[in-house]
This record gives sequence, structure tokens and C-alpha cells, in this order.
Amino acid sequence: MEEYSNFIKTEIANDIAAGKVKEVVTRFPPEPNAYLHIGHARALITDFESAKAFGGYTNLRFDDTNPSKEGAEYVDAIQKDIEWLGYHPKNVFFGSDYFEKTYELAVELIKKGLAYVCDLNQNEIAEYRGTLTEPGKDSPYRNRSVEENLKLFEEMRAGKYKEGEKVLRAKIDMASPNINMRDPVLYRINYTAHHRQGTKWCIYPMYDLAHPLQDAFEGVTHSLCSLEYDNHRVLYDWVVENVYDGKNRPRQIEFGRLNITNTIMSKRYLRQLVESGKVIGYDDPRMPTLVGLRRRGVTPDAIKAFILSTGLSRINSTVEGDMLDHFIREDLKLKVNRIMAVTKPLKITITNYEDGKIEYLDALNNQENEELGKRKIAFSKHLYIERDDFTEVAPNRKYKRLALGLEVRLMHAYFIKANEVKYDANGEIEEVLCTYDPQTLSGSGFNERKPNGTIGFVEASTAKKAVFNQFEPLIIGEVDSENFLENINPNSWTKLNGFVENGNYKEGESFQFIRDGYYTVDKDSNDECLVFNRTVSLKSSFKPQ
Ligand code: ATP
Ligand code: MG
Repeated sequence: MEEYSNFIKTEIANDIAAGKVKEVVTRFPPEPNAYLHIGHARALITDFESAKAFGGYTNLRFDDTNPSKEGAEYVDAIQKDIEWLGYHPKNVFFGSDYFEKTYELAVELIKKGLAYVCDLNQNEIAEYRGTLTEPGKDSPYRNRSVEENLKLFEEMRAGKYKEGEKVLRAKIDMASPNINMRDPVLYRINYTAHHRQGTKWCIYPMYDLAHPLQDAFEGVTHSLCSLEYDNHRVLYDWVVENVYDGKNRPRQIEFGRLNITNTIMSKRYLRQLVESGKVIGYDDPRMPTLVGLRRRGVTPDAIKAFILSTGLSRINSTVEGDMLDHFIREDLKLKVNRIMAVTKPLKITITNYEDGKIEYLDALNNQENEELGKRKIAFSKHLYIERDDFTEVAPNRKYKRLALGLEVRLMHAYFIKANEVKYDANGEIEEVLCTYDPQTLSGSGFNERKPNGTIGFVEASTAKKAVFNQFEPLIIGEVDSENFLENINPNSWTKLNGFVENGNYKEGESFQFIRDGYYTVDKDSNDECLVFNRTVSLKSSFKPQ
């Protein structure tokens, strides 16, 4: 994989040069309340690659300090996704494992006079906080004695108060120009059972308290996060200085979020898509989740190459979906077999070919990569070609496919000439009667005539039945808005029924269907019928610089 330089690596290198850091330690801290999506891939690739570049390591830490909506299902899925991308966390930690220690440090903070229990409700706290242009007002509870605060905090823990009735706040500066420093909430009451702690706790630390402590406890040196935490950094440092009782001094560095055109990235909206039944699940191949991309056939290497190519800066960026497609094609081009499939079958009968005979012809698996070897493909009197590869009367000289009176090459096989069309009761073309020329076998060196193009085919009796799923963007128009469900593309999933050449097809295996695109075998395949997801079409409008 290509090495990219970026501002984070520069900062880390400076810290090492200045003697501030010996071994680089980063962490990827997902909240286990959703499946990872391609935006998370930017964060996790940045975490792992930044540490790796300096011989350091990365931990996975589940930021599970908010019991609502968290669950073991997500913990397992996230771990699987990270491994799939090819990253191996050195340790797997859970933020909730530090609840006791965090509680003890909060008690110490109260004793230092730097935290107090506040009875204002959420709206009042917001009101007292002031605005960007006006300073905040002190809470009437700000000057409670240490003894009273200790007692109330203990009672909060013991379950004496209702949700929202009391919170623990840091005592910092209600006039700070940074609103996050105006006595931020450190603990709130929540009676939801926790996925690992059960009902042991009814008070939970807020992100701004929990996160820097977790980083500090685990020896993280560089805590990389997305840009929205920029104005929380001062508070992060305050917590490390005033709450943490050890030596480690983690440093937060922010980077821009990644957005992709026509792609929903927000967890909340992804959940709505699933819950409204607009998609078949988090692993719907149209979803930008890693499970969805995997099911569509997108490879980890393509995702990594794409993410790294988008660069990293302190600005949120939006890139074209076509750019990801480009990296998918580049990755698969030389790796997969190019096989024949017919997505809209049209029957071909070779009238001068012997009844009942099947011959097996040599075919290279990938014309651009001979290392992939060869296979045998079947040929007989009964074939299927793509319906779009035939028309009765060629429209012009540029038409390079089959038409009555014209001769084309069947790829890896012979020239065939179309002589007669048979129609069904509706007047639709049902079958084309052709003749073949046995001298024209591919690879025989025959050069007396030139065919009118080359088309694919499959042999009818050996072909396997298949459903082909083709996808278009799920959302057209505005993506991140409350009514995005109205912008669902009604044509985002097309199912075609056809055939693929005989072979062994395993779930997750990818192929190029010559002249159509890259396809991957779906888990819904069975003995009767294979299911293929089009990973990406061959055509591209994206032009890399
Ligand atoms: P939400 O904002 O809905 O809570 P989140 O996307 O921040 O969700 P987390 O589980 O907290 O979800 O994400 C883990 C990490 O991934 C965070 O550090 C977050 O900043 C980062 N991340 C999430 N989405 C993107 C994105 N589109 N680009 C870059 N980083 C992202
Ligand atoms: Mg988050």
C-alpha cells in the first residue's frame, strides 16, 4: 500500500523528535451503537496507519459509557469489520471497565473543589451557559460545600434521584470564551441497563470526562478524532491535568470528516433506513456500512486505497462516489477471473452443430494476468447470449454485435452468423438460428475474415441459473436532511435473471463479467440458483488526476 504523508504524521514525528513520546499508541474508539461505515474507515485507518508508521500500536476501545442503544451485537460486528479491513488491535478495551476508577477520580475532583452537584435541569443548564457572545451565569448550586457535594454524588450513585434531577459538573469558568469550559456536565443519571454492567450503575460519565481518562489510563499518546471535537480539546487537557492521577499525557489531534456524494454517513439515518424497511438490513449491498460494502464485493484493499487517496487535513471533505468505484475496479482488475455471464438471456441455436455434442474450449481466466491460469468452457448447439448483443437489422456500420446476416466471434469460441429469428406469441424475439464456422476457433490463427465484433455467451445445458443484482445510489438529491427518506432512488436495485458459465462459486468470491462489470457471489446463493451482486460496473465517469 502506498505511503502517504499527512499533517498527523508530521505532528507525531515532531513529538518523537522533541522527546515527548517514545512508543506511539493510538486507539480507535467506536461507540457500540451502530455498524461501522466508510466514514469510520477514515478514522480507523488513520489510527492504525499513524501508529504503524512509527512502529507503535493501536488499541480498539469501545466507548460504551452511554447505556442507551448500545449492544453486544455491535461489539462483535465492529471487531469483525476491523479484522476484515486487515487491522489487528493490540488490546480490546471497554470504556465501561473504568467506571469504578472514574467514579473515584470524580470524588477526588469534588474534594479538590473542582466539581459540584447541580440541580438545574437540562434546559436551565443550557440557559445559564450563555452564548458565544455572552458569558454564562453561575449555577445557584455552584458553591455547595465539598461535604454536601460528596454526599449528593454518593446518593446519585445509590439511585436516590430521578434521571435529569441532578448532574455532576466541573467547576471551571462560566465566562470562558470556550463554551465547553463553562462548567461542563461530567456525570448524569441514567437508569437504562448497560450491555456489560447491567444495573450496577445509574450514573454515567460524559464523553468529555470519560474519553481523556480512558486515553490516559491506556497509555495512548495520540488521540486522533474528527474535527467536531476541536473545541473540546481544552477541556480534554483540563481533565488530564486535573482529574487524572498518573503520568501519561495523551494529546488530542483532530482531522476532517469524510463525506461521499449521494451517501448517508450519519448513524441515525442509517438506522432509519433499516428500521423503515427501505433496505434489507445493515448489510444491504447499497449501504455504506462496511458489512454492506463487503456484501457488495468491495475489497478491504480498495477501501484502504480510496481512504488514503482522499488525504487527510483539518477540513471536512466531500468526495465523489465515483472515486471509490475507481479504486474498486483498480483493485479487482488483475485479481479476479473474467468469466461469461448472460444477464438478459437470448437463446441461440447453432443449426449446423451436432446434436447432443458438447466440446470444452480453452479460456484464459484473465487476459491481462496469465498467472490466473486457464479454464475450459463449454460449447454446444444451444447457447445464450445477451439480448442486447443482438438486433435484427444493424443500425449502422459502427454496430459491432450480432444482427441478421452478420458474423461475430463468440469469445473463446467460433464465429457465428445469424440467419433467422423466431418470435414468441407476443411477437418478441425468442430465439436466433445461427450457423458456425468450425475453422474459426479462437487461438487457431484463422484470419481470412474479420468478425463484426466479439460477444460473450454461455452454453445452455451446463450454465448455472443466476440472479444478478445491480445497484444505483440509494439516495438521489439531498442526503443529510430530516426528510432524506423521500429522496430514496426507486431504481436503486434491479434484479435480472440469467445464467453464468459452469463453475464452482463460493460466497464472497468476485468475478469480472466481460464488458459488464465486477460481480460478487452473495450469501443468498443456493444449489438451484446463484445470486451475484454487481460490485461496480465497468464504466466510469471518474478521471483520476
Ligand atoms: P455519531 O456522531 O452519530 O455519534 P460517530 O460517527 O461519531 O457517530 P463513533 O462510534 O463515535 O460514531 O465513531 C468512532 C470514530 O469514527 C469517531 O472518532 C468519529 O469521529 C469517527 N468518524 C465517524 N464518522 C466519520 C467520518 N465520516 N469521517 C471521519 N471520521 C469519522
Ligand atoms: Mg461519536
